[in-house]
Amino acid sequence: MSGQRGIIVLLGPPGVGKGTQGQRWAEENEWLYAATGDLLREAVQKQTPIGIQAKAYMEKGLLVPDELMDKIVEEVLLNSKQSILLDGYPRTLAQAQVLDEMAQRLGWKIQIAVLMTLSDDEIVDRLSARRICPNCKAIYNLKSKPPRNDEICDECSAKLIQRDDDRPEVIRKRLAVYHEQTAPVVNYYRSKGILTEVCSLGTPEEVYERLKKVTLA
Ligand code: AMP
Repeated sequence: MSGQRGIIVLLGPPGVGKGTQGQRWAEENEWLYAATGDLLREAVQKQTPIGIQAKAYMEKGLLVPDELMDKIVEEVLLNSKQSILLDGYPRTLAQAQVLDEMAQRLGWKIQIAVLMTLSDDEIVDRLSARRICPNCKAIYNLKSKPPRNDEICDECSAKLIQRDDDRPEVIRKRLAVYHEQTAPVVNYYRSKGILTEVCSLGTPEEVYERLKKVTLA
């Protein structure tokens, strides 16, 4: 998947491993990893106008309005010289249509959409144990991928945090939102013939091998 400036869309429920797998894949292939959730959390932290608007939605596990998200992603497309692994966008059918329009207008090709799959129960389990580094964005899991030292980032030594929206009641809401609003996006790419699926059961290494296979095809 090299040579052409393209986009791979990474789809799947929250906690399925998009961030862990996507960051590694992008680094190894020298693509830009762009996660709209990370961009929003940064905006919230810096209290930018977008961050101030987005905060209340995010805390409740709801989707941030499409217009805000479209703006954020357009900026990414305008500023990247590298191909892009897009994680967390599009999350609604309307966003998927806007992405098509922007890609065409700005000279990008959406190469494939990769759907990562896992059961809801497994997801609740994983998300409750997830910790992230607020500084370098590394992702840990206290059960399956613990940091070397008690909740301290292996990479940059910052204190790890739990995302506000990784609390069980918010996780259930985010899953419901995913099934309602993001399922049509999956069908959208399926009907275009560019959807491919990766099962997220197993170790991060096993999942990564599966991801590598479908992205090399
Ligand atoms: P994530 O890190 O991808 O789980 O995103 C965290 C939160 O950011 C989501 O629960 C939404 O509130 C918001 N968010 C991220 N990407 C989008 C998007 N494409 N559309 C709407 N809201 C988004």
